[in-house]
Amino acid sequence: MSGERYETTIGKTRLVLLQGDITTQEVEAIVNAANRELTPGGGVSGAIHRAGGPEVTKAAAAIRREKGPLATGEAVITPGGNLPAKWVIHTVGPVWHGGDKGEPELLAKAYRSCLELAVARGIKTIAFPSISTGVYGYPVEKAAPVALRAIREFLEKHPGGLSEVRMVLFSQGDFAAYLRAWEGLAEAN
Ligand code: ADP
Repeated sequence: MSGERYETTIGKTRLVLLQGDITTQEVEAIVNAANRELTPGGGVSGAIHRAGGPEVTKAAAAIRREKGPLATGEAVITPGGNLPAKWVIHTVGPVWHGGDKGEPELLAKAYRSCLELAVARGIKTIAFPSISTGVYGYPVEKAAPVALRAIREFLEKHPGGLSEVRMVLFSQGDFAAYLRAWEGLAEAN
């Protein structure tokens, strides 16, 4: 059921694709596919808030009060509370409206914003879920190449900034889609 894993390197950074649960990852920061209100909600966000506990939820609520709703593609950071990860980086992916409403650009921006925030904070290891491909309806086979290209481009521009970027895919099907997308990107080069 779980345990699928693929690993490669981009410059000095390890890129790992694995099937698993993001809330148990032992990395410095995990990314939350948040909603604009930064409330727990369901899906991966609900799981992260449950596992992280009130410290995560209260910090997210304080940011919401101070800054208003988070714009799609932007990212903010809170402590990780009871999670193994020290930090949670919350970003809002685009809702899928058919693909011609700027969804790929916004999805790439969400990954980039998280990576920029991580590097700015000196975070070396980060794990992402498959942003937007649950309730937000982005087809996973379309999201995977956008996500991986955004990560690869960032790492090529910021060599040495991060030691590991992990994509944590919840289902075997999502893992397979990301692996296929990675192989497709590698072939296109
Ligand atoms: P969005 O609203 O951005 O679509 P969702 O939480 O609905 O976010 O789904 C994003 C992805 O996260 C989906 O592929 C879902 O299967 C996955 N997911 C749900 N729970 C977890 C978890 N504990 N760890 C990793 N991924 C998860």
